[in-house]
Amino acid sequence: MTKPGTPDLFAEDPLAREAADLRRLLADYSYRYYVLDAPVVPDAEYDRLFHRLKALEDAHPELVTPDSPTQRVGEKPAAGFAEVKHAVPMLSLDNVFSDEDAREFDRRVRERLGGAHLDAPVVYNCEPKLDGIALSVLYENGLFVRAATRGDGYTGEDITANVRTIPSVPLRLRGEGWPARLEVRGEVLMPRDGFAALNARAEQAGEKTFVNPRNAAAGSLRQLDPRITAARPLVLYAYGVGAVEGGALPGSHHAILMQLREWGFKVNEHVTLANGVDAALDYFHRLEQLRPSLPYEIDGIVYKVDELALQERLGFVSRAPRWAVAHKFPAQEEVTELLDVEFQVGRTGAITPVARLKPVFVGGVTVSNATLHNMDEVARMDLRIGDTVIVYRAGDVIPKVVGVVADRRPPHARHVHLPTHCPVCGSDVVKPEGEAIARCTGGLYCPAQRKESIRHFASRLAMNIEGLGEKIIDQLVEQDLVHSVADLYALTVPQLAALERMGEKSAQNLVNAIAGSKATTLQRFLYALGIREVGEATALALARHFGSLPPLLEAGEEQLMAVPDVGPVVAAAIAQFFREEHNRAVVQALIAAGLHWPEHEPAAHATQALPLAGQTFVLTGTLESMDRNVAKGHLQALGAKVSGSVSAKTHVVVAGAEAGSKLAKAEELGVPVWDEAQFLALLREHGITPESGP
Ligand code: NAD
Repeated sequence: MTKPGTPDLFAEDPLAREAADLRRLLADYSYRYYVLDAPVVPDAEYDRLFHRLKALEDAHPELVTPDSPTQRVGEKPAAGFAEVKHAVPMLSLDNVFSDEDAREFDRRVRERLGGAHLDAPVVYNCEPKLDGIALSVLYENGLFVRAATRGDGYTGEDITANVRTIPSVPLRLRGEGWPARLEVRGEVLMPRDGFAALNARAEQAGEKTFVNPRNAAAGSLRQLDPRITAARPLVLYAYGVGAVEGGALPGSHHAILMQLREWGFKVNEHVTLANGVDAALDYFHRLEQLRPSLPYEIDGIVYKVDELALQERLGFVSRAPRWAVAHKFPAQEEVTELLDVEFQVGRTGAITPVARLKPVFVGGVTVSNATLHNMDEVARMDLRIGDTVIVYRAGDVIPKVVGVVADRRPPHARHVHLPTHCPVCGSDVVKPEGEAIARCTGGLYCPAQRKESIRHFASRLAMNIEGLGEKIIDQLVEQDLVHSVADLYALTVPQLAALERMGEKSAQNLVNAIAGSKATTLQRFLYALGIREVGEATALALARHFGSLPPLLEAGEEQLMAVPDVGPVVAAAIAQFFREEHNRAVVQALIAAGLHWPEHEPAAHATQALPLAGQTFVLTGTLESMDRNVAKGHLQALGAKVSGSVSAKTHVVVAGAEAGSKLAKAEELGVPVWDEAQFLALLREHGITPESGP
């Protein structure tokens, strides 16, 4: 062993050099993780480096140094807190990453115990490995007297004042029979929803956010001001005991946990006994399935030999007990190389940067593409092609790039640029100031948006073409029968009858429905074009204001802003849409195909008020006479705002059959609730009957 500070005798030995490099890297990562609560690489990467160092040291014991991370736990306590010496050291756990390695652990346990244990199953207590930070809480005569972090395992930080604010930490033990001095150990964690809310608040306030719930829990516990800790949603789960004096505890780990539960501690609800390694592995795989739905994060399962007498016989090695092991789930965060960034055009024209990655195994699958969301994200992470990036995948969610390992940037790394033209149709790409998402302005023309634009065009509140469902639209586009919505009007019965799931009769019906849609209203027509930001209400306002199409086609943003409820964002979207040559061509083709509507005089005054202007409605439950969307369209056409949730500002809740929580909320807040008959009466008052369009 080399003493720290002595010259590196192995400087010329490549293995010694590698071990020294690994020690330096791990020490830096460990400091950032434990002291700053701001890790820079995923745990999987840390674990890999750690295991590499461990393997080197196992093969060459002379490479071990006293300051090697393999020889110790955690980090020295931070300044600012009083020190607490742990009467019984707070150790770490060894990790295994596969079923085979878990079996190997079990085999070693049985071999060490020997005798009858060699062939008999060992009883393990199986517990979720909670992803928080370890805590020691001391009770004297049943009263909470002190709490400490693990620190380096021997000396921790005194965080009594902070821990006193955690509601699940009993300040006085319940029941009776506890030892005069009892040190309980457990994991403090922050549930996912609390973490999300905390980060959302921090983001709003422009403060630093936490990388994950574990770091948030650690940062919250180690606050110098307990009032800050008190405001954080922390929970303690007890998973064991440390020092015990003046009293006895049961002789098995499981029984101790049940006893702690009776004394008032939260003990994880999934803790269970398994007879032998097979049962333990079954539990592992069951919990792995459950993992995404748990309200807190777990990163594996801990198997602990249940009988304390056996634990004692097995004892400890340098930094972990021999009677327990953490079987880790496949990592949800990994590092890999960003090979390139490509841009995809979504069905609504959103241009999304997509990362092409060197394939990496994460969240249980091999990932080679990951979403980057939008260019603001790319800028926030300061992402460059060639970077080592952190990829996250959990449950069934789409893999995403969540960060960059800054110190691994190669010199040739390249910036990522938003394309100026749509990679699919070549139309201009716009990214309005202050908006995160860039979009193709090709609208009706862009092939990437074709299916979506046709679906929207045919929908009930737009051209209302019955029988033109998604399956048929897919075939029409894929067989190149329809390039733009205008082509719908040239479709023939034989063409349609040749499609899958289409007979002669339904083809004829569809041709009739398409032809029937030619007689429409200007509002429906404008809505059908699928201009961004233009819903039914805005389409109606535009139709009323301009009265006919030609002046609208030529309107500049100033003129558009004179329309009620049209602000700068909407005005820009409309003007941009009609500036695009391709879109104008589609509009012309539609008119040439025979679409028509009654024209009328432009509205006399631009700010003509609608009857329900300023009122907010909420629709809930099932309406008998119409679809909820149709009802919404009617209300919007009358000027009302239709919201998805009930608040004190809601004017009316319209409740159909089987209305649930929104109805209850309305009653609680005293918001007027109408039944369907009252709603229909309102519509009739304004000349709308269920059969007529909005
Ligand atoms: P550990 O977290 O792997 O295991 C020991 C800890 O597990 C205990 O201290 C305890 O707090 C916790 N635990 C949770 N549930 C438990 C249960 N039911 N029973 C007993 N203990 C339970 O070990 P560690 O020594 O704290 O740290 C190593 C971990 O920290 C690794 O996962 C490593 O990847 C991570 N780490 C990451 C970085 C980084 O840069 N990303 C740096 C350092 C450490």
